[in-house]
Amino acid sequence: MNDKQRSGSEPLALFGGTFDPVHYGHLRCADEAREMLRLETLYLLPAGTPVHRRKPGASARQRLDMLRLALNEFPQLDIDEREIRRQGPSFMVDTLQELRTEFPQRPLLLLVGQDAVNLLHTWSRWQQLLELTHLVIVTRPGASAKYRDDVRTQIESRTATDLQQLSASEAGSVYHLAVTAIDVSATSIKRIIGTGRSPGPMLPAAVLDYIGDNGLYVRSNER
Ligand code: ATP
Repeated sequence: MNDKQRSGSEPLALFGGTFDPVHYGHLRCADEAREMLRLETLYLLPAGTPVHRRKPGASARQRLDMLRLALNEFPQLDIDEREIRRQGPSFMVDTLQELRTEFPQRPLLLLVGQDAVNLLHTWSRWQQLLELTHLVIVTRPGASAKYRDDVRTQIESRTATDLQQLSASEAGSVYHLAVTAIDVSATSIKRIIGTGRSPGPMLPAAVLDYIGDNGLYVRSNER
């Protein structure tokens, strides 16, 4: 984050993930969301040690390298590297607490795909999240809303229909954003590579070259 971004007043928007590897589903969705939310910049937030899944096929360093290569095509996306630098599991609530301390008055927007938010009840201290950030739920092909009852109650009672509400307070609202469907997942990319084929148009060419050069995912035929 440069000095201008650091001292700005626009909401700080983050899209967390494992990015193992980053693909056009993430990138186009994040960039379109950025435009719809009328933001100059949106940050991809790679998890250092993801909590909700098996160990990634690529190291944290490699996932970060791939993100950097991918962002050459998306100049208005940036990377927040704090979870990669922090030791231990990447709990989102810790990250949001850090950001809140750094930016006490700034609205925070956490973008989460529908499949991921369906599992919100499994996130550490999930009830605290909405005290720290707004939640922007992004559509994803094949995923429909399916919440545990207490999560549904929280989401329904906090749903905002007007974008202005996200700038008017620092945290606490839920906003739904329908983005263009791009049916790509990291799992399917790894499966394709694992069977010796090329996932070509699913991800930037520079990322594909990096995967080839580093022999990533060759033996993985699942996630
Ligand atoms: P996997 O296939 O291993 O589950 P993934 O492709 O879902 O990986 P993640 O890094 O886990 O990638 O995803 C990070 C975030 O991006 C999540 O909130 C997820 O819902 C969202 N996301 C991933 N792919 C898409 C897509 N094609 N369209 C919209 N959102 C997506």
